Amino acid sequence: MTVRHPCRSDFPALLREFDGQTISYLDNAATTLKPRPVIQAVTEYYETNGANIHRGKHRLSEEASDAYEAARVVIARHLGAAANEVVLVRNTTEALNLVAAGLDLPPDAYVVGCLDAHHSQMLPWRRAGRLEMARVDAHGRIDREHFRALLRGRPRVVALTHCSNVTGVVHPVAELVAEVRAACDAVIVLDAAQSLPHRRVDVQELDVDFMAFSMHKMLGPTGVGVLFGRSAQLARLRPLSVGGGMVDWVDLDGSVDRRIPYTFEAGTPAIASIIGSAAAVRYLEAQDTPQQHQHAEELCAALVGGAVTRPGVRLIGPPDTTDRIALASLRLDDRIPTGEVARLLSDSYGCMVRSGHMCAQPLVSGTAGGEVLRVSAYLYNDVAEIEGFYQALDELLSWIAPVAATGEKLS
Ligand code: PMP
Repeated sequence: MTVRHPCRSDFPALLREFDGQTISYLDNAATTLKPRPVIQAVTEYYETNGANIHRGKHRLSEEASDAYEAARVVIARHLGAAANEVVLVRNTTEALNLVAAGLDLPPDAYVVGCLDAHHSQMLPWRRAGRLEMARVDAHGRIDREHFRALLRGRPRVVALTHCSNVTGVVHPVAELVAEVRAACDAVIVLDAAQSLPHRRVDVQELDVDFMAFSMHKMLGPTGVGVLFGRSAQLARLRPLSVGGGMVDWVDLDGSVDRRIPYTFEAGTPAIASIIGSAAAVRYLEAQDTPQQHQHAEELCAALVGGAVTRPGVRLIGPPDTTDRIALASLRLDDRIPTGEVARLLSDSYGCMVRSGHMCAQPLVSGTAGGEVLRVSAYLYNDVAEIEGFYQALDELLSWIAPVAATGEKLS
């Protein structure tokens, strides 16, 4: 019998079966499943409290406010940040929009990005200024010469992605930041949505000005994004939303903002999800062991190894496991409809993987030439599940490829 990863029993969703078949959840880059302590923290808030925060003096409200603020402290500590440097928003996308719009740049402000950016780290900057993107090489590693050349134009902002959600490449951010600091005084904004679930990041060491990520990609509930910002940088930002919860005083002539970070948290937040996020961080920290690191490397090796040895499959990203997470984007033959393969993998084999442009269309179109199939593993996955995915893919392709070659429609 196959020995499964011991933490799997903490994830009730892994018990799902479709038509008597167990599932392999391999879409973790989109969002991860939630362990029981996270589900319990959310449920407990609803069962024992349910009040709004920061608005009342009654006991339930004070208790909810304390739990909410305690979660902010847990998240801040995880990053090596102070609690007032952590703004709680809805997701990475909102955090990045807050920075891009909040810096209030002139329309021609020069911004340097990188071609492997997710749309959420691209479109806000394209709207805010004049965005130029550093190229990546055939394996998705940033073209350092081109990056340096772009820096010579003295950008106002450098918007980097720590880890690509298409190639799985983890960029050498500390080195890139050092180059930026030496070249200009740009504000450095890091999208850490894909790196933080897999690697501990210390914002002091990385020396970035802003960093954004989503709790739902690291075992937490949906509806919580985190924006880390250095105090001096947060002080420069104009809030994206104004209204209740972010002001100390309002009269007919004006208003006085609350202090940072509350200035950026207008309206009722996702209280239960934020309380659940603290449980997610604690769970993740408990998994930060040498055994788990070794396990992550084995998952990565199985994903990459399976792709590079397979005819009819092209791996988008480096053919090795150095500086990458356990994620593989695969390009199939041009005639094979990738979405249909993803559906069949799910319906016939219980393998949940993603297909499409991964919200990084310039990169996927440029390097893959069309949609990809993305397989992404997390701490509860087993190597056997990845092997099972490749076997299923082989079986499917053995009949799909000949049909697709004739130009006939599948299904
Ligand atoms: N950046 C990257 C690298 C991502 O992978 C994602 C999620 N796919 C996002 C940003 C956006 O995250 P969210 O949908 O939680 O805003």
